[in-house]
Amino acid sequence: MKHSARVRFAPSPTGHLHIGNARTAILNWLFARHVGGTFILRIEDTDPERSKSEYVNRIYEDLNWLGIQWDEGPDTEGEFGPYRQSMRFELYQRYANKLREEGKAYNCYCTPEELEQMRKDAVREGRQVTYNRKCLHLSDAEEQELIHAGRKPAVRFKVPEGQVEFEDVVKGTISFDVENIGDFVIMRAEGIPTYNFACVVDDSLMQISHVIRGDDHVSNTPRQILLTQALGMDVPLYAHIPMILGADRMRLSKRHGATSVDEYRAKGYIPEALINFLSLLSWSSQSGDEILSVDRLIKEFDFSRISKSAAVFNVEKLDWMNGQYIREMDVEKLTQLAIPFFDKAGYETTDYEKTKKIVAALQDKIDYLEQIIDQAKIFFQDHITIDETDARAVIRKDTSQKVFWSFLRELRNIDRIDVDIFRNIMKSVQKETGIMGRDLWMPIRVALTGKVHGPELPVVIELFGKDKCQRLVENIVGGYR
Ligand code: GLU
Repeated sequence: MKHSARVRFAPSPTGHLHIGNARTAILNWLFARHVGGTFILRIEDTDPERSKSEYVNRIYEDLNWLGIQWDEGPDTEGEFGPYRQSMRFELYQRYANKLREEGKAYNCYCTPEELEQMRKDAVREGRQVTYNRKCLHLSDAEEQELIHAGRKPAVRFKVPEGQVEFEDVVKGTISFDVENIGDFVIMRAEGIPTYNFACVVDDSLMQISHVIRGDDHVSNTPRQILLTQALGMDVPLYAHIPMILGADRMRLSKRHGATSVDEYRAKGYIPEALINFLSLLSWSSQSGDEILSVDRLIKEFDFSRISKSAAVFNVEKLDWMNGQYIREMDVEKLTQLAIPFFDKAGYETTDYEKTKKIVAALQDKIDYLEQIIDQAKIFFQDHITIDETDARAVIRKDTSQKVFWSFLRELRNIDRIDVDIFRNIMKSVQKETGIMGRDLWMPIRVALTGKVHGPELPVVIELFGKDKCQRLVENIVGGYR
């Protein structure tokens, strides 16, 4: 039997999917999967100026990439649809009329200028800046007059008196004094619902049981509870998740670097790693483990382990975690992921076996795939430049010159090279020159790659082949001294 928990992720398509929103989606989804409930995607595109269909598509793409499937949403439909708010305007209108007919909401004809004056007066007199209910008791005749004068009414909710208190699943008891809220607009004069109203109508009609979202929405919650009660609907449970901060403990923003899912996707992060990382930003496993598969996250999800304090987004930790996923990945799969990056860099990938070997050689050298472009450069370039000071120092050593000459003599005697042949050659070089260890291996590494660090040398040698190795060492003995 299906559990009756119904949760929703309700993004506004006004920009790229932010990391914080992705985390909200993930937590809703993990909870739904944990209890066997329903995960709903609802597009909150009521703002015609800021909502773009391009962003709606990106939300689908990013969620798909993350592997987050919704049970109900714009493309699946279902008994509670449509799931795009722009297709539900008639419903909002209907419920606004209902509230008006029941005396729980009223038409307000005040112009922006009048409202601004009201605000200024309140500030000057040291009063709470709330709507002064000027339009609450308009007579029919007065309303007709305003309509004749060309005024279009907004609909304002008549906020009842008292306190609103709710038990936040994460934060505990939260109470608000209703007096501070003031009658607020639920439908704008153009017939567009405000966020709070559309959200409540939808959460109610879609029978949402738990609203899990960022705690920047805590202050909206009393309004939403009052509206839900006024509509005679069931108030859902609320779980407000602490926000994500940058390393400087300021709210995570562009200044802190990449903040949207598609930026991480473009850099070649692994979706499972991003899910793992974002889940752990707000939650922790009782086991203390940090690398958690999606299955384990689903199994272990528990509201009581959601932290009450804000989480700090640490990109080094994300890189470390992503690196762990890359190390564990099947080479075949990693190669598939790497090929688009190679193609982008203009590297030749038609020889699949060779590409796979390169990827295998670099699997433990990268934390995310974009880094493979730089790391793999040595395999695709014919010439190298030695820019690093420590690499240049290696080349200048007298022992290095001896190693090069001896190595070249050995190379000229063979017509192909592989890992074993290379090892034998190095044994002969060692015997002939009496040079061992770092002084023996490092000059060869630098001559071939231009760097003192990199993938395992025998693997490099085999992938380069004899001719390229010979040419590069000949170049070195010819110059750089
Ligand atoms: N569209 C709202 C947002 O993206 C949804 C907030 C909510 O979950 O209620 O912030």
